[in-house]
Amino acid sequence: MLLDIKRIINTPGGRIPFEFSEDFSDVDFGGVCPAIRPVLVVGQVQNIAGMLRLELALDTTLAAVCDRCGKPFDKTFRLNCEYLLAEELEDEENDEILLLENGTVDLGEFSREVFILNMPTKLLCREDCKGLCPGCGVDLNEEVCRCKKEVDPRLAKLAELLK
Ligand SMILES: [Zn+2]
Ligand SMILES: [Zn+2]
Repeated sequence: MLLDIKRIINTPGGRIPFEFSEDFSDVDFGGVCPAIRPVLVVGQVQNIAGMLRLELALDTTLAAVCDRCGKPFDKTFRLNCEYLLAEELEDEENDEILLLENGTVDLGEFSREVFILNMPTKLLCREDCKGLCPGCGVDLNEEVCRCKKEVDPRLAKLAELLK
């Protein structure tokens, strides 16, 4: 999705809205590709106060896998960000500024970068997910750990008596 913004580069107040969807299903995070659904990209480029401002919002629902219990779940991914566009870079260090190429910006490619950079590093099915027991492997959100039963004091006493 290449957006041509030549017509507003020298037009104060000029504005170009956009809306499209991108396929990021090939974006791999540690062996998992969570963006199985299209990612909706909505925003605008605006010539404001002598600057070209790009506003971008990404929206999708990820097919995530919980880092603690391994359960698949749907996670809403929503992101709003803002960048400045410029025809040439005055300050190479500033990564908030995006360079225009021939008066155009490749929003598809840029959205992909933004998506990858903002992918949550930890995905949990819920904040307080208890995960799996390292001993018996049960899902502690749904079952009581079986290792605990083995050290149940009553059973321990019974075991003593049976000896
Ligand atoms: Zn979980
Ligand atoms: Zn256990």
